[in-house]
Amino acid sequence: MNLLEMQHVKKGFGENEVLKDISLSVAEGEVVSIIGPSGSGKSTLLRCATLLEQMDDGSLTYMGEKAAESINGKTVYAKPADLKKIQRHFGLVFQNFNLFPHYSVLKNIIDAPVSVQKRKKEEVVAEAKVLLEKMGLSGREDAYPCQLSGGQQQRVSIARALAMRPEILFFDEPTSALDPELTLEILKVIRELAEEKMTMVIVTHEMNFAKDVSNRMIFMDKGVIVEETTPELLFTSTNQRTREFLGKYH
Ligand code: ADP
Ligand code: MG
Repeated sequence: MNLLEMQHVKKGFGENEVLKDISLSVAEGEVVSIIGPSGSGKSTLLRCATLLEQMDDGSLTYMGEKAAESINGKTVYAKPADLKKIQRHFGLVFQNFNLFPHYSVLKNIIDAPVSVQKRKKEEVVAEAKVLLEKMGLSGREDAYPCQLSGGQQQRVSIARALAMRPEILFFDEPTSALDPELTLEILKVIRELAEEKMTMVIVTHEMNFAKDVSNRMIFMDKGVIVEETTPELLFTSTNQRTREFLGKYH
């Protein structure tokens, strides 16, 4: 079953056509990595998928247990209540963690489930503690983001995303602000989530990791999907643009 379908999505900024007719679907339990040169539109694609940007054209449908919800780029943008319904389907982890600096670790994690999802605080706190343990951060509930390493902050932001019980988790270059050792910590956590069959869409420059963890890989260049296939086939592709890009990582 597909959890997300994006069809014929277009997005530009002024004269700059950034996404040129992108279609993408993500099936339940699948890990999809998106790779491509800087400026190719990867973040814009994730930002459209997660409603941080409004598409110019095309459609976006989230399916799954929480029922199907669609947005059509051509229509006037959805009402806030409809946006909220769509936001229940996914979580997003950014490159720069984006934690609230004035909130403790625990408050960062429980804030949205309690105030947006209106769930019981005790239940969410208990769940947050389980997530922190899973992220190797037991006992750090009361720390503030500035007291944590970058890798720890990123693990808190993964816990924060998971606390919303998303059906799909999006990552936008989750390790590119981290040094190699801390990068490994984060990749390990993402790998564990993959083993648990969490559905994930990951924009990354970590080619070996992407090759290992993904069911499917997408190579984007200049706002189009150049190739979309298994890691094995992508890494042995004869497509010139794909080869040139991957060549930079050898
Ligand atoms: P990537 O994540 O693949 O590096 P982006 O999606 O960030 O690429 O950017 C693709 C293009 O869109 C770039 O040319 C960038 O300058 C442009 N762009 C992205 N966001 C904005 C914005 N908010 N306003 C104007 N241009 C933008
Ligand atoms: Mg980007």
